[in-house]
Amino acid sequence: MKFGVQYYPEHWPRDRWAVDAKMMQRAGVNVVRMGEFAWSAYEPKEGALDFTWMEEAIALLSSHGIRTILCTCSRTPPPWLYQKHPGIVNCALNGNTQPTDERYRVGLAHGEFIAEAQRIDGAVIRHFAGNKHIVGWQVDNEIGASNDCFCPRCREKFQEHLRQKYSTPGALNEAWGSHFWSYNIEDFSEVPTPHKRAQPLVEYRRFMSGLNVEFSRWRADLIRELDPGKLVTTNYQNIHAQHTDCHALGRTVDVNGMNHYPARTPELAIDYYRGARGEVWCLEQHTRLQHHDTPAGRMRLWAWMAIAHGATGIVYFRWRQCRWGQEQFGDGLLPHSGEENRFYGDLSRIGAEIKHLGDMLAPTRPRAKAAIVFSYESRWSFEASGFDRGLGPVTEAVDFHKALSRRLTAIDAMDPRENLSAYRLVIAPRLWMVDQRIADNLRSFVGQGGTLCLTTASGVVDEYSKSFDTPRPGRLQDLAGVTVSDLAFDKALRLPLASDVIPDLDGEEGSLLADEVHPTGATVIATHAAGWRKGSPAITMHTVGKGRVVYVGVRLSPEAVQTLTNWLCETTGFPKPFELPNGVSACERACDDYTLLFFINYRDDPQNVQVGEGWIDAFTGESVAVAEVPANDLRILRSGK
Ligand SMILES: [Zn+2]
Repeated sequence: MKFGVQYYPEHWPRDRWAVDAKMMQRAGVNVVRMGEFAWSAYEPKEGALDFTWMEEAIALLSSHGIRTILCTCSRTPPPWLYQKHPGIVNCALNGNTQPTDERYRVGLAHGEFIAEAQRIDGAVIRHFAGNKHIVGWQVDNEIGASNDCFCPRCREKFQEHLRQKYSTPGALNEAWGSHFWSYNIEDFSEVPTPHKRAQPLVEYRRFMSGLNVEFSRWRADLIRELDPGKLVTTNYQNIHAQHTDCHALGRTVDVNGMNHYPARTPELAIDYYRGARGEVWCLEQHTRLQHHDTPAGRMRLWAWMAIAHGATGIVYFRWRQCRWGQEQFGDGLLPHSGEENRFYGDLSRIGAEIKHLGDMLAPTRPRAKAAIVFSYESRWSFEASGFDRGLGPVTEAVDFHKALSRRLTAIDAMDPRENLSAYRLVIAPRLWMVDQRIADNLRSFVGQGGTLCLTTASGVVDEYSKSFDTPRPGRLQDLAGVTVSDLAFDKALRLPLASDVIPDLDGEEGSLLADEVHPTGATVIATHAAGWRKGSPAITMHTVGKGRVVYVGVRLSPEAVQTLTNWLCETTGFPKPFELPNGVSACERACDDYTLLFFINYRDDPQNVQVGEGWIDAFTGESVAVAEVPANDLRILRSGK
């Protein structure tokens, strides 16, 4: 288990480095992440490269048993580079260049930036390759954040991207429905910068995301060539950021990495960024939520939450609050003064716990039998089509993830094109865009006996963001055994439900989005209970071979999502869940020899969970039949052996 902090030696006087290294060592830190914003410290003026300070910091930390994950740094260039190449700055949609006293304000299609970025990153990689104190590399930081560009040069590159993809203007016109509002083109150079039209907007997002992915690929490939054997990672910004398809980005690195800020992002995020790979490094792990009152011990629980969900690396952000800049009053472990505080106490406690359990944790991973799937392309298309992002797949995925978390101790989340053969239940919230590969993958999953749950507004558009000319859910129509004739999107919708099959759904409610559902092979398991829809299908189930597809034709309240999820889990044959008090979570990691159960109590009072026979406390080895979890604390149990 990698355990450590983000450290910026360039922020602090050298005589402080040894103090920090000793404090880190005492707290059990075994790794630091450094260097992602270090360009101006490496090269204060053009050509004057100086890596000695970083070499010294790496060596000093290593002498205290602390290894380094070194980052490349080029997306935050020094002011002299902006002065030398004013054209590297990216542009907003209105054509204005972005202010350069912010970070990441560069266009990744701007040739002079790419050349300079490859020069500095190449120099860093070449210089530090082979350094035995470096255990891994991180490609830059939050790749894609703030890199969107709408300048004329990027429009030309976009047009070239379209030429490569569509070959002829006619093919583009056909895919994009260019007769609408007189958009037909005769030459790719006529394509304007996308603004409102969904089809070009989705393609522009693919183009920009592709630049971000290639930015990572170039560096990861060079690191593997020059420093073989070192793991390469990068940190996905957060689940609400849509700038980059993180599944495509993930294919460029060896280990998924992420920012983990539980106070700002849902628990789903860590399962989504870990995905089916089984592990993730939390490269920015939350310490405290400035300026909110962060309860004592909470940063310890957040770290264990990440580990319980499969994290194999915890790197807190940051070692010490910085004294300057946009993050002067941002999150951090030590205060500005650098003195020990209660957060340092938490760090030391977690460090000791990880040291104690490290060997036991190492071979284990979450082993999920249920997955939630949604794609970036679907999110881009849903939003480009004029729908509120808040109604998109992530919001509904969060509801289903919370509900599943009350029933299951491991859940995976991933792109719908990933291999689904390990799962018995797959929930695909708001699967707006369905290409042939997704349709085939889901058909194969159901054909092997899986239970698939689709929700309202699924199968609406194809990969070009073009509506199907067959009834919804388009390519999934035969699989779902329903057709959908209309989609209502209305804030005034209040749709009570009735069900004989799932009696607990009686009285539950849907709202905001509703399909008009017509079974073509499916049976109705819940109907609308009032208004002009009274008696019409709300939820259906279609048996397909040994599998089945549940179609939810209305946006359910979180309570109704829980009721439906309970039914899905029971009828899929999942074991009876632990009876979890509200505010207590349960997660599981396992290997072939044993299972680890993590119960985390976020409440201010102690809670008990009945676990039955066969469990021992992972720390003490005592038998446990009832897990007593103190207030704001956790228990880790191990299956006996
Ligand atoms: Zn540009």
